Amino acid sequence: MAKELSKSITSIQPSATLAIDAKAKALKAAGSDVVGFGAGEPDFDTPAHIIDAAIEAMKQGKTRYTPASGTLELRKAICAKLKRDNGLTYEPAQIVVSNGAKHSLFNALSAICNPGDEVILPAPYWVSYYELIKMTGATPVLVTTTKESEFLATVSQLQAATTDKTKAIILNSPCNPTGAVYSKEQLREIADYAVKNDIYVISDEIYESLVYGSATHTSIASFNDAIKDLTIVVNGLSKAYAMTGWRIGYTASNAAIAKAMGNLQSHATSNPNSIAQAASIAALEGDQTPMLEMVKEFSKRKDYMMQRVEAISGISAPTPKGAFYVFADISELFGKKCDGKEITCAMDFADMLLEKHNTAVVPGEAFGDKRYIRLAYATSIESIRKGMDRIEAFVASLV
Ligand code: PMP
Ligand code: GLU
Repeated sequence: MAKELSKSITSIQPSATLAIDAKAKALKAAGSDVVGFGAGEPDFDTPAHIIDAAIEAMKQGKTRYTPASGTLELRKAICAKLKRDNGLTYEPAQIVVSNGAKHSLFNALSAICNPGDEVILPAPYWVSYYELIKMTGATPVLVTTTKESEFLATVSQLQAATTDKTKAIILNSPCNPTGAVYSKEQLREIADYAVKNDIYVISDEIYESLVYGSATHTSIASFNDAIKDLTIVVNGLSKAYAMTGWRIGYTASNAAIAKAMGNLQSHATSNPNSIAQAASIAALEGDQTPMLEMVKEFSKRKDYMMQRVEAISGISAPTPKGAFYVFADISELFGKKCDGKEITCAMDFADMLLEKHNTAVVPGEAFGDKRYIRLAYATSIESIRKGMDRIEAFVASLV
């Protein structure tokens, strides 16, 4: 008989977002005409000057190990970015560059959590937070937000969820999957609460550049030194620069946490890819126009997708203020049937939609709410049109 595997690792659920993306990509590769609203992955190519910088880095021999926490040049470029965009002053020793922001989140949680700790997680939450918290032996404590409260957690909710075991709060603004963006005032209140109660804040700001209309991004670490000391800012290049495959994310934190994360990483993965690091300097320091153009395009796509969602009876969604997802409530359709099979949850809806109409969406179960589906609009207007035509036809066919 095979020996038992690790209990903590075998309890991990696979990433639903990546699984759906893989399924949609496999169907596409097999010749199926699939529309993918699944993965949160920009469809744009990485801007040319970033690719050129990677080629140049290889030619210059930047093909060797770098310091485990990233090259000094990249960490300096990240410090300059945090100063320029977020008004935050950090030293390179406070920056850890990792293999994507997901890895940064893993490092951050591993550095601060002990088994038995609790981490407050506003729900709906991005799928990986829940599992990443569990991997450290800590427990996720959910704070439920609703579309009526614009999917924003309040201090009184945080208060109700706080115990003497509370170690950290995870904040994700702009939010995946809801598109919610916290205002400066709301963040200031949360910052004051965290400081008063000595709770760490893991602030995932990976969608910071993707804000629309009057919404603006503020880093919670920017209010004062006390909250800055408690905050681990998480960010990365994947979304803003269409660099998902390059795998570069980073954290900014107090020096003790940065050292702990650097030590962990030095044994687990060593440095992130040296060529991708060199390219990331070009992304952060170079021409920001391609990034701004992508944001404009995402904004147009959001408007178009919202217009289509609003025209479908039985589906409703708040207008996203940031990121690139529409989080749509489909619960009015529960009880309806497709080919005699009843829709009881978002998973049923997503399965039938993919099977019957070749359109991939992520069911809200992955984010802690089975009444919703997540539609990523990180795809062309033509694909959005095609996919929304199919969703419209699917909903109309339900009896
Ligand atoms: N945080 C959020 C909220 C995300 O949606 C993602 C998407 N991949 C990540 C972190 C991780 O990004 P990456 O690892 O590609 O840098
Ligand atoms: N973050 C993206 C998403 O939510 C990409 C997939 C993943 O990293 O989970 O779809």
